[in-house]
Amino acid sequence: MLYFTCMKLVFSLLLLWTLTRSVFAQSKANELQWFKGNLHTHSLWSDGDGYPDMIVDWYRSKGYHFVALSDHNILAQGEKWVKVAKSKLHEDAFQNYLKRFGDEWVEQKVDSAGRVMVRLKTYDEYREKFERKDFIMLRSEEVTDQFEKKPIHMNVSNAQELIRPQGGKSVSDVMQRNIDAVLEQRSKTGVPMFPHINHPNFYYAITVDDMISLRGERFFEVYNGHQLVNNEGDSVHLSTEKMWDRINVAYLRRGQELMFGLATDDSHNYHQFGKTFSNAGRGWVMVRAKQLTAESLIEAMEAGDFYASTGVELAELKVENNTLTIEVKQEKGVTYSIELMTANQDGDINYRIRKGTKTSVALSANDLFLRARIVSSRKRTNAVNDVEYEMAWTQPVIFK
Ligand SMILES: [Zn+2]
Ligand SMILES: [Zn+2]
Repeated sequence: MLYFTCMKLVFSLLLLWTLTRSVFAQSKANELQWFKGNLHTHSLWSDGDGYPDMIVDWYRSKGYHFVALSDHNILAQGEKWVKVAKSKLHEDAFQNYLKRFGDEWVEQKVDSAGRVMVRLKTYDEYREKFERKDFIMLRSEEVTDQFEKKPIHMNVSNAQELIRPQGGKSVSDVMQRNIDAVLEQRSKTGVPMFPHINHPNFYYAITVDDMISLRGERFFEVYNGHQLVNNEGDSVHLSTEKMWDRINVAYLRRGQELMFGLATDDSHNYHQFGKTFSNAGRGWVMVRAKQLTAESLIEAMEAGDFYASTGVELAELKVENNTLTIEVKQEKGVTYSIELMTANQDGDINYRIRKGTKTSVALSANDLFLRARIVSSRKRTNAVNDVEYEMAWTQPVIFK
């Protein structure tokens, strides 16, 4: 009798333990978490100088949770062999590749001229090798188009099929046709994906009016880490940030959804570092999502639940009762200013600066939107110009 009572007790405890565990797992799955990612990177599949698997390995080892290798007009599929270029730099890079992954993984052959050829790993291959609970890949492409020699580049994050450059009759027409092609693939496949406008100030190809004319675009690069993209503009060209505010004033006035700002690497150079190279690790996004899947990340980004960063990390970012609260994760010996940009109904931008690591700002019904930029007193390492400080950009919010 005692035996049966004991067994009953053991079973009840086991049942209770299992139930608690599953409730706990459930609540954990519903908790929002921050994920760090880069949506713009190049490899040897186009004009980057790194092996795709080495690049993915780098991002994963640096604590990123997701990365998109976005090569020009190509998805990493099918068989592609590249020659190891005749230079110490590239020969060393190949040796490092071999050292990191070994003969079993690296596929090489010698061509008729005696040159070493390497087969590039496909998206499916590197995805299988690197994805794990806390790291995923997004399939991506940089649709690389132009109008009268002006480069018009747009990334497609979570693309399922290759999108060829659509061309068009003007800069804005080229952009719109490429956006429409992405949205069409999205509706055809039912898979969430989005286009984003890359580096508008690269050769000053894309103007603020070009972007204002668009329908259906939600993202652009407010920061791109390539050395030729002129994020700051010049005496006759607007900075990407100034463009951003003007775009949103125009979008909100005509009832269009907000444009959100991304920071990306656009890295091409993995063996040489400095101002004249486009290196990895300069710009990224922090996305607050339910889980680490492409669908969940895209859902969060389309809701504006993310920020762009070149070094500043946030401890808190929330909008409650029309009040935006920001708290910076304080780094030792570093000070911060939180710059607030509010657009009024006339489209004027009002700037306020608050020193410190925390601020709360109320939105008024008269404001079109409010956004913040956090600037650190610490200079960025490996920045493209000498005056770059670590920053973060929160997404604009509107009065509800
Ligand atoms: Zn580009
Ligand atoms: Zn690029």
